[in-house]
Amino acid sequence: MEVCYQLPVLPLDRLVPKHVLSRRGAISFSSSSALFGCPNSRQLSQRRGAISYDSSDQAALYIRMLGDVRVRSRAGFESERRGSHPYIDFRILHSHSEIDIPLSARNVRRLLSFQRYLKSSRFFRGVTAQNSLHILDDDYNGQAKCMLEKVGSWSFDIFLFDRLTNGNSLVTLTFHLLSQHGLIEHFHLDMVILRRFLVMVQEDYHSQNPYHNAVHAADVTQAMYCFLKEPKLAKSFTPWDILLGLIAAATHDLDHPGVNQSFLIKTNHYLATLYKNTSVLENHHWRSAVGLLRESGLFAHMTLEERQHMESQLGSIILATDISRQNEYLSQFRTHLDRGDLCLDNASDRLFILQMALKCADICNPCRTWELSKQWSEKVTDEFFYQGDVERKYKLDVSPLCDRHTSNIANIQIGFITYLVEPLFVEWARFSNTRLSQTMLGHVGLNKASWRGMLQERSSSEETD
Ligand SMILES: [Zn+2]
Repeated sequence: MEVCYQLPVLPLDRLVPKHVLSRRGAISFSSSSALFGCPNSRQLSQRRGAISYDSSDQAALYIRMLGDVRVRSRAGFESERRGSHPYIDFRILHSHSEIDIPLSARNVRRLLSFQRYLKSSRFFRGVTAQNSLHILDDDYNGQAKCMLEKVGSWSFDIFLFDRLTNGNSLVTLTFHLLSQHGLIEHFHLDMVILRRFLVMVQEDYHSQNPYHNAVHAADVTQAMYCFLKEPKLAKSFTPWDILLGLIAAATHDLDHPGVNQSFLIKTNHYLATLYKNTSVLENHHWRSAVGLLRESGLFAHMTLEERQHMESQLGSIILATDISRQNEYLSQFRTHLDRGDLCLDNASDRLFILQMALKCADICNPCRTWELSKQWSEKVTDEFFYQGDVERKYKLDVSPLCDRHTSNIANIQIGFITYLVEPLFVEWARFSNTRLSQTMLGHVGLNKASWRGMLQERSSSEETD
C-alpha cells in the first residue's frame, strides 16, 4: 500500500497523541499486506475493518489517521452532520406521513424549516447501529489514484471516482488539484488544516439530496479544473485565481437544502427574509463557505486584507451561479466578445472569466457523454419531483418542472439545454475556441437529440395505446 499525502501511519501499541486526535476528523482502520508485511490474504480479509491489540501480531497493529473517513449505513451515509449549519429535516415530514393530522400553514412552515443537528457523530459516541456501520478503509486505493492521472479528461467519471474513494470524491479530488498546482506550497497552506477544511465542506453537502450533494460539487470542481487548463486561462491566471476558482467550485452549493429559492420564499423561510428573496441559496452557499474558511483557519496566516479579498471574490463567483441572473451575465459576456475587449492581464476581467467558468461548470451536465449526462439528468429530476411532491402534499403551488404528473425528464432536459446550456456554451466556445469547447458542444447536440428521440418514442407509444 502506498501512503498518500504523507498521512501518518501510527502504530496502535503506542498511544495516539491527544493533539493528533483532536486535529483529525475521524479514524480509518486499515490493514495491508504490503505495508504491514502480512503475506496471508485470508488473514487480512478476516481482519479488515477491525483492529488487533495483540502486540505479537505485526500484521494489523496499525491505525491510519485520516480526516475524511465516512461511515456508511445500508441506507447510505449516516445523516448526522456537524450541526453548525441549517438543514431542512424532511424526516420530520416522513414521520408524520403515516399520521393523518391536519396541519396549519404555520405548522407546515415549522416542519419545513431548517433544523439544527446538535448530535455528535455516533461513531465518536461509540454507538453502533444494528448491522449498519461499516468502517471503510483503503480510501486512496490504486484505482482512484489511477483515475486522478486523468483528472483533466472531459470524460472523467465522477460517479466511479466517488465509489472508489468511499464517497470522498470532493475531498480527494480538490486536495489533489490544489496539490498538483503547487498551491499548498505557494500559499503555505497547512495540509492537515486543508484536509480538515475539505472534510467540513464535503460534510456540509447533504448526501440525502439526489442532485445537490458533494458529488455534484466534485463534478463542478473537475469541470472547473478542465476550464482552468484551457490555454487562454492557463497562460494568464495566477495561483490566486486558480485557488479561488477551485475553492469556489468546491463550495458553490454548500449546505444546499435540495429545494429551490421559490420554495424557501413561499414557506417564509428565514434565509429568504435574510437575503430579501434575492439569490437566497447562493448567498447562503457563499456565507457557509466563508464560515468554514474562518472556522478551519485555512487562511489564518494570510493578512486580513488578503482574507477579506478572498471572501469577497468568492462571493462574486458563487453569486454568479444564480441561474435567474443568467441573461445578465450572458449579455455582458457577449458584449465583451463582440468588442474583443477582454484582457486577462486585468484582474477584474480574470474574475469575470472565473464567474463565467463556474457558471459553465455548474450547468455542464448536458455537455458530458450521454452515459454521465443521463445519470445527472435523472438525479436532478428526482430532486425536482421530490420538491413537487412535498409542495403538493402541503397544498403549496407546485413549482414549474417539479410536477411529476405534468413534466418529464426529456422535456425538462430539452428546455434546459435549449434555453440555458446551449446559449452559454456557444459564447464560451467563442471565448475559448478549443477542442474541449467543440467536444462539449458536440455532446450537447447529441444528448439533446437523444432526449428528443425518447420524447418521440414516448408520444408514438401513447398514440398506439
Ligand atoms: Zn451547482
